[in-house]
Amino acid sequence: NIVGLIIDISQYYSIKFGLNRNLILFISKMFLLYINIWTFAFSYYVVGINNKHSKKLRVILNVFLFAIAIISMILPINYYFDGKSKMYSYGAATDFMFLAGEAYITICIVSIILDLILNKNKKIRQYIPFFFFIIGGVLEMVVQKTNPSLIIVSSVETFITILMFFFIENPDVKLINELELAKEHAEKANRAKSDFLSNMSHEIRTPLNAIVGFSECIKTEETLEDAQKDAEDIIMASNTLLEIVNGILDISKIEANKMEIVNKEYSLLPELQNISKLMIPRIGEKPIELKCDFAADIPAVMYGDIGKIKEVITNILTNAVKYTEEGSITFSVNCINENDTSSLVIKISDTGRGIKQEQIDSLFTKFSRLDEDKNTTLEGTGLGLAITKSFVEMMGGKIVVQSEYGKGSTFIVYLGQKIVKLHGGENTNATSEEIDENVNYSNSRILVVDDNELNLKIMDKIIKKYDISTVLIKSGQECIDLVSGGEKFDLILMDDMMPGMRGSEAFKKLQEIPGFDIPVVALTANALSGMRESYLKEGFDDYLAKPIDKKELLRVLKDYLNNHKASKNSRINNTIELLKKDLNNYQDEKTEENKDEEIETLDDKPSTPVTSTSFDDSTRILIVDDNKLNIKITEKLLKNYNFVLEEALSGKECIEKVKKTTYSLIFMDYMMPEMDGIETLNRLKQIPGFNTKVVALTADAISGARERFLNAGFDEYISKPVDRKLFEEVIAEFILNRTTENKFPKELFDMSKQVNEINIDSSKVSSSDNSSVAISSVEVLDSSDNKGSTDYLIKNGIEYGRALELLGDREMYDETLKDFLSAIDEKISNMEKYVSENNMPDYAILVHSLKSDSKYLGFAKLSEMALEHELKSKANDREFVNNNFKSLKDETYRIIDIVKKYLG
Ligand code: ADP
Repeated sequence: NIVGLIIDISQYYSIKFGLNRNLILFISKMFLLYINIWTFAFSYYVVGINNKHSKKLRVILNVFLFAIAIISMILPINYYFDGKSKMYSYGAATDFMFLAGEAYITICIVSIILDLILNKNKKIRQYIPFFFFIIGGVLEMVVQKTNPSLIIVSSVETFITILMFFFIENPDVKLINELELAKEHAEKANRAKSDFLSNMSHEIRTPLNAIVGFSECIKTEETLEDAQKDAEDIIMASNTLLEIVNGILDISKIEANKMEIVNKEYSLLPELQNISKLMIPRIGEKPIELKCDFAADIPAVMYGDIGKIKEVITNILTNAVKYTEEGSITFSVNCINENDTSSLVIKISDTGRGIKQEQIDSLFTKFSRLDEDKNTTLEGTGLGLAITKSFVEMMGGKIVVQSEYGKGSTFIVYLGQKIVKLHGGENTNATSEEIDENVNYSNSRILVVDDNELNLKIMDKIIKKYDISTVLIKSGQECIDLVSGGEKFDLILMDDMMPGMRGSEAFKKLQEIPGFDIPVVALTANALSGMRESYLKEGFDDYLAKPIDKKELLRVLKDYLNNHKASKNSRINNTIELLKKDLNNYQDEKTEENKDEEIETLDDKPSTPVTSTSFDDSTRILIVDDNKLNIKITEKLLKNYNFVLEEALSGKECIEKVKKTTYSLIFMDYMMPEMDGIETLNRLKQIPGFNTKVVALTADAISGARERFLNAGFDEYISKPVDRKLFEEVIAEFILNRTTENKFPKELFDMSKQVNEINIDSSKVSSSDNSSVAISSVEVLDSSDNKGSTDYLIKNGIEYGRALELLGDREMYDETLKDFLSAIDEKISNMEKYVSENNMPDYAILVHSLKSDSKYLGFAKLSEMALEHELKSKANDREFVNNNFKSLKDETYRIIDIVKKYLG
């Protein structure tokens, strides 16, 4: 604008002072050029706002700029001066410049219209200043054309520029706009988070409800068969829950950039076969055919992250199964092998409900589930595909979706993998069990470093079973001495938390030994998230969390011994065999235990709520829920009451049933497709004569849910997972019309009396008075012969089952107990010594080891207490340790007492 004003003024004075005519004409042309550039810049700015077509329009503008500049330079120009003050330039060049100005304005108007109408931009506000500028520009042109001597062009343009600065480009205005935008984003993100949380709470509670419900049922189940069926349902629900939690973990890892690609050698074909096998139970009874087609030339061994590939395929296949009701699912894998790379094409098509074209874009957005209303009965989080896409892209691949709504979908993953071995042979390094069976570890030697003797013994026992020789040492220094002394090992398992030298420190020193190439796996009880990554970062080859999970240990053995041993193709791998045998033994033992328990529990049934005779057999209850599993659980909870139970799978069905039959009570879910619980209730209330109590039974557990449901007219609200006591209270209140204070006390005490009469010497029961019953039951516990009774352990709060999971079998458990017992006295006296000396670092090491022993042996409470002591002593909190040492000691003695009684 300054340049424009200078040119404008120079033009005026050059004419007034009668300078050289050619110079005046040149200045006039320069002025035209300035107007051209200014109008161009203004249009360029307007066109750039939000407009999807701005690219095309800007190209047109660029061409315009040059064309107009050249043409206006060529065309003739002249000027008029009346000798006093009136003057202006005129001629073809000036006329042309007016035309060009009109064209620029037209482009601006077209751009604004395109943006407002075609792009459905609702922000008209943004364009208001421009409307004024454009109107101002047009008026100025008209005035200038009719009164050429007014010379207002450059001043109007300058004025517009200044206005534009204050209204649009002013840094404050911009900042405010940006802040507003940021606020909008933050609010949106916050809303998404809240939606996600309430969604998750619902998703998590549904399987949890099944787990709690069926577990409750197992307690009262009469036959082993029924209990096993319940257990199957529990396992199913637990797996769903696990999937959800894993999904959330994956997403948070991806978002925190913590997800890493773990490449290793693998063989694809057996994995593919495995995945397809796993799909069969998921398909269940749906009439779906699973067709698999894997190319024959898939390389035998490739290098990549098979874990993630498996997850990608499983996610897509699971969706195909989930969203297909009938027809077929085709799962094919083809490849093109070139040089050392195999380009895999993994294709999964289904004949399911398909995806609308306009929804394909949001398919991979996390937490987004399409067709929400249809989804309520299908579990899911909307995370699966978001994770899948991230994984594929992390591995350098691509995922493509084709779908026709109502007909089916096809997902294709393109992924390049490095070929290690093209054709199968005996020497494949695969991870799958079938191939692993050709390997044995009998010549392997493992070094285990751990300051805790019990840990060493446990590791030794587990590892020895697989014919592997072990060397056990208690400190990092010994480990360094052995290795630098030339001892050969195939693997080192190194505890991190050791006194003196920490494992990670020892590991650093090991690496300094020339020629050191033994894989080192970190062992630690610190299972915080991110630990694995941090150990891998330190250079450890792998990470095992304590207490050691046998399966994980086996995986480590497989990964590190296989790859380092040349003795393949020898006899069948006894590891797998042994493990299988172990598992069978364990299961047999469990069944035996169950049988024992069954005999005991036949009479020893815990609180069956109320004896059946208390009820009128014709009490009818209606359960309304779109999820069959939920209905089943509610039915189970009601089983002992002898009610007539009826079910309705939708609000509509419920209304129809209520019109025909009178119910004593209705349990109603809220989240149902088409008609939700509240709407159903409202319609029920319109039925003449309807006065049945309706209880909301839903997984909606956000705070305020109870008020919401009661306000909506429900008589009571129970959240899932169902608290059995609450449930019984509701039944008592609504059906028996009892208040909660005197809920079936008599029956309950009758039941416990029965139990005690069976277990104790009848002479001890002098009266059936309640207090004497309670006392007798304590006596029973102590006086019975507890030697070898795992039941005795369980009754005393020892998590025997968990310990078995960790230690494998009972023999191992008993032996470990003996080890524990033999060392505990010394441990306690040392602990006492350290406490009296205020020696917190050494005390921390001892309680750490007590914690770890207790964890293995199922002493839950003791391990928790020891953990607290460990944390406090590490923080040098002497006061806490001094004040609480006695209770820790008492608990330890309590355990010692139990263990002694058990071992006999
Ligand atoms: P979800 O846990 O809901 O299955 P995903 O991220 O795996 O989450 O899938 C997102 C959404 O995409 C699903 O809710 C579903 O609506 C849709 N979808 C995914 N796969 C298919 C498919 N094979 N056919 C139809 N719809 C699908």
